[in-house]
Amino acid sequence: MERASVVIIGGGVYGTSIAYHLAAMGCGEVVLLEKDSLACGSSGKSCALVRQHYSNEITARAAMESRKFFEVFEEEVGGFPEYKNNGMIFLAHPPEAEALEKNVKLQQEVGIEVEVINPGEVEKYLQGIDVSDIALACFESSAGYADPHGVVTAFGARAKQLGAKICQGRAATGIEISGGAVKAVHTAEGTIETEVVVNAAGPWGEKIAAMAGLDIPLKPTRIQEAIIRPLETYDKLTPTLIDPGEALYFRPETGGLVMAGGGTSEEDKEFDPDDYNENADSDFVEDISQRLSHRSPRLERAGFMRGWAGLITLTPDYHPILGEAPEVKGLIWCNGFSGHGFKLSPVIGKAIAELIFKGKAEAMDLEPFHINRYAEGRTFASTYENFPILA
Ligand SMILES: Cc1cc2nc3c(=O)[nH]c(=O)nc-3n(C[C@H](O)[C@H](O)[C@H](O)COP(=O)(O)OP(=O)(O)OC[C@H]3O[C@@H](n4cnc5c(N)ncnc54)[C@H](O)[C@@H]3O)c2cc1C
Repeated sequence: MERASVVIIGGGVYGTSIAYHLAAMGCGEVVLLEKDSLACGSSGKSCALVRQHYSNEITARAAMESRKFFEVFEEEVGGFPEYKNNGMIFLAHPPEAEALEKNVKLQQEVGIEVEVINPGEVEKYLQGIDVSDIALACFESSAGYADPHGVVTAFGARAKQLGAKICQGRAATGIEISGGAVKAVHTAEGTIETEVVVNAAGPWGEKIAAMAGLDIPLKPTRIQEAIIRPLETYDKLTPTLIDPGEALYFRPETGGLVMAGGGTSEEDKEFDPDDYNENADSDFVEDISQRLSHRSPRLERAGFMRGWAGLITLTPDYHPILGEAPEVKGLIWCNGFSGHGFKLSPVIGKAIAELIFKGKAEAMDLEPFHINRYAEGRTFASTYENFPILA
């Protein structure tokens, strides 16, 4: 029978990051199962913004350490991550101004290069933005963005080079548990004996949990992105803009284009990852074009090129569920990234790999993210009460 020290279910940015880190630590017999192809889930559809603007110290720190990893990704991992350090402007409407100041102070204490600026100073970094309704802003000089497909395939390829088995087109169909511990993972191509299984299945996370007879609080919800062609080539180092009040973000995209998204009017609905509309709706295209041209009048005559919809996987407190399931020894949750997981994947992937291989996460403390926090009433909260998704 096939045997593995660890079976990872899911070939998104988490499955591949964990596989890479495990293999790099010298953990043998790592098998990654991807039912389709690498990056076919949330990861490949991500806007892949790498911001460090968070309300909670532990998340801000993880974002900062992950951003440092993205800066050296190409040397460490290889492939084509296409990481660009373009900086980020974050706008606060009057109700969010106080929270923005508080968050920036926390981020500066963590060591993140970020400063509060007046609306009039936005022009210095990002030209042609209408700031007439903005109370305050900040500029995060070290923020960036990447090519999510390039990152996932690079993690996967390097993990394979280091000895991990990356199986595309092979789905996990069941998890065998005996005496409260993982014993094996079933696939149509045969059973893999193992004592450790990682659920890194993104929006399919609940379905994998159900294979172990468990339920975890995950809600896959649909969000959309659009690629816009401006009249003039958009420089790849133009800062990203995040405008929570308008539920809008946009950044440069390869080829002088702009990628824009934001706003999930569908947050109340739960979607089936095997059955949802992956195309952008015409309403969304119209709506985002309006919001974009209001905030950046120079993009008013930009043309819509293409769009898509993907799923983000929400938890009740918009933070992931990480660590061993209390009910089953060897079953590791790496789920519920609530729409902001791409940027955290280097450090969280490393911490999960350490938990498995060394018995203790060193890259960051995973305990605050344990599923028990819901029962114990120690959940996370965002300073932006109206925009908890910003975490
Ligand atoms: C439109 C959009 C924009 C986003 N923008 C940002 C952003 O700007 N910044 C940011 O940090 N985050 C962003 N995110 C969130 C981020 O992309 C996700 O948090 C992250 O990609 C989650 O990765 P994952 O590996 O957990 O899941 P996924 O990438 O979904 O990977 C899960 C994989 O599991 C596989 N799988 C499922 N079931 C099985 C099975 N039974 N057997 C084998 N394989 C299975 C699936 O095929 C899939 O490939 C965005 C997400 C979306 C959708």
